This record gives sequence, structure tokens and C-alpha cells, in this order.
Amino acid sequence: MRFQNLARYPDIGSNSYLIEFGETRAVLDAGTHPKHTGLDTLPLFDRVEPGSLDAIFVSHPHLDHIGGLPVLINQQPQAAVIMSEATRDSGVALLHNSVSVMTSQKRELMEPNYPLYSHRQINEQEHLWHTRSVGESFSFGETDRVRTEFFRAGHVPGAVGIRFEHEGETTFYTGDVHFEDQTLTRGANFPTGEIDTLIIETTRGEFPRDPEYSRAKEKQKLGETIERIISQGGSILIPVFAFGKTQELLLMLHELRDEGVIPHVPVHIGGLSTKMTTIADRHADMDGRFHRDYQILEEFEDLQILARGRSEPEFHPGTIYALSSGMMSEHTVSHRFARRILSSPKHALLFVGYADSETPGGRILAAGQGGRIQLNQDSPHETPIECEVHRFDFSGHSPRNQLADYAVKCNPKKVILVHGDFPAKTWFQEELERRLPHSEIIIPRPGEWVE
Ligand SMILES: [Zn+2]
Ligand SMILES: [Zn+2]
Repeated sequence: MRFQNLARYPDIGSNSYLIEFGETRAVLDAGTHPKHTGLDTLPLFDRVEPGSLDAIFVSHPHLDHIGGLPVLINQQPQAAVIMSEATRDSGVALLHNSVSVMTSQKRELMEPNYPLYSHRQINEQEHLWHTRSVGESFSFGETDRVRTEFFRAGHVPGAVGIRFEHEGETTFYTGDVHFEDQTLTRGANFPTGEIDTLIIETTRGEFPRDPEYSRAKEKQKLGETIERIISQGGSILIPVFAFGKTQELLLMLHELRDEGVIPHVPVHIGGLSTKMTTIADRHADMDGRFHRDYQILEEFEDLQILARGRSEPEFHPGTIYALSSGMMSEHTVSHRFARRILSSPKHALLFVGYADSETPGGRILAAGQGGRIQLNQDSPHETPIECEVHRFDFSGHSPRNQLADYAVKCNPKKVILVHGDFPAKTWFQEELERRLPHSEIIIPRPGEWVE
């Protein structure tokens, strides 16, 4: 097996990897980078000879894994595009939304290459997308057949890790993974046998998780914060990714209401999150989902949906706003709505997921209550942060010790570290070199080949 890192930058974003088994070639994921714009957001697709791929695999529908897919398909129209059913359904909707975001960015950032693809292109390419289920064994490639199987990754509904077997050699790509159960998604169910090459995510490698942490305690803390803010007449903004985290949060709020921890107050979600929730509900009976009988959109009491054509919800006191995007990127509903919440110490901004330090969400977290924040990159105007700011750990990624334990169990000849900032990858490298003294632990640079 040969591997090439197609990520353009050494950190998380524009995740994409070329793998070759003899004559058979595939790309794993085709993401865009949230911190860059224009062509710089794309992986190094130009390193892959046009028309040369047999397959493109998508592990899950977050934009750092799927955002560049239409561009790659354009260059590789012969390739079979393979993913889970939930990833296909939500991926199509997310890519259409991304066309709309890029179209508004084109004007504001004067970015001549935006949008990188069109609604029409997505519609025309959709028939190339094939779905496979977890546990189903299949193969791809013309001359060198590669046995392939998806495994539940526990990160978001439908997220998978992918195992390849070729000439007695096993390669496993984790994608984004969580081994523990979340409210909506059951933890990963990864293969336990020996693996020759392990390509593993390292998102949380920089910091250990508090050994006292439990998800139940964290949920209780979230509930108590919400209760306190609502009882003082404030409102709450919770920035969330439209797919995965929105549905996780709604189910958590549903449980917290049932347990009597929080009052029954209206919860607003945006248009894209509504679409994503419809898809999650449609796949409610899928493998690895909890609350299988619960249809969120129909059954969640007092769920307010942002009307079509409106760019942000109306502001009301005593209300929860669960709006995407999770990092409050510009041109998204959570970013447009932010000023409403930032303006008063009665309100609160609660983070429940990952926010890169260079995004508006990450900058607000760093500045904290009493700080000031430049909300729009191209305007020098600073907004004071009057509201409370809190962070809760409901990460969809495994803590580092669990990932390292998994790598040790697989006892691979080579471990390729991906999807992490430099300090995160370095921790894994040192940890795994110590615990797997006979394995080679590799941090591939952008564009680098691994034999
Ligand atoms: Zn993800
Ligand atoms: Zn990711």
C-alpha cells in the first residue's frame, strides 16, 4: 500500500488522502479548510492524475471531509463515490448549502473562484454516489480487487471507519471517531484484529481529558447553566454543527426536560439544521442510534424552525437558540445572531463542540466574558462580550488515551497520524513510539508519500 497526504495544510481541514493498492487507487475524504478561502480551501487534488482514481470514499458529511467532493469528482468522473446512506443524504444537503455560503462570500471577500461548484453540478454528480452499509463486505478496483468494509465510527450518525484488504495486507482508516456512546450515536465498533497500516485521527491529542469527566455530569452541568440563565430572564445561544451536534443537543435537551432539570422553553433551530434533523429522523432505525422511536422534528415540544427566506430568528427572552455553524463562521446563522446574545450579561453563549481558535467562535472562547471580539474579519469594529461564555465537553471525538489504546491493540507495522494540529500529532507520536516500539509512527507532511 502506498499513501499520499493530500491535505494542503498540516492542521485539521481539507482532509484528503490518496491510497494505492497495486494498480488500484482511491481517495479517502475530500474536505475543505474552514480557515482559508477560494482554491486554498481545497486539498492537493492536482497531485492526483485526472481520471486515475477507482474510488472516492467519504467517511462522514462534515465539510472538512466532504466540502471539496464535487471538485474532485469533476477531475475524476470515472471514480465510484462510496459512503454510507446517512452520509449521502446529509452530504448532498450540506454541499448545496455550501454553494449558497460561497456565493455570498464571493461578493464580500471578492473571491473570484467562488462558488467552487454549483447546485447543478451537485445534482448531476449525485448518481455517481453509491452507498454501503456497516458490516457489508464489498470490493472495488479493476485489476487489483480490494476487499472493503465499513465500521461504525460513533462520531455522527452514519460516520464510518474503513478497512481495506489487499494481498493479505490490512489497512484501516478511522475517519473521525468516538468510542463512547453519545446521546444519539452509539460509540464506535472498530475491528479488533491486527492491522498492518493504521491511519488514525488525532484531534484531541494535545490535552488529556479530565479523569473526573463523565458525560452524564457534563450534561447535568449544562442543564443547570441553562436553568439559571432562563430563570434570570436571559436567552441562550448554543452554536452547533447542523449535522450531528444539533440532533445530539436536541435529544439532550429533551432528556433534561424529562428529568426536570430545565424548564420547557422554546428552542429555535435554523433551516439547514431542520433539513439535517429530517435526515437523522429518516434514518432513526439505523445501526448505532439511540432513541430509535423518537422523531425529533415531530415530537420535540416547542421546537421553532427558522422560516424560509429569513436569515436569523426573531429574538425573544427566555429562549434557547441552537444555531449552526458550530464555530460561528461568518455568513452562518449563529454568527449573524451573535450580537443579540453578546450584548447583555443576562444572556449566555454556550459551546458544546469543537471551535478552531481562529474562527469567531474560538476567538470568543479565548476572549471570554468582559473581552472584546472582532466579529467580522474585514471590519475593524470590535464588539464587547457582555454575556456569560461557557464551554462544555460533548466532543464527538475520542479522548487521546482511548485512541492510543486502540492503536496499541491493533499492533500495526505503521501508524499514520492525521486530522490533528501539530502538538496533537506530536503527543501521539511520542506515546505510540513508547508503547509500540516495533512500529513506525509517521506524521506525513502535506503532499508527502508513505510507502
Ligand atoms: Zn467530523
Ligand atoms: Zn473532521
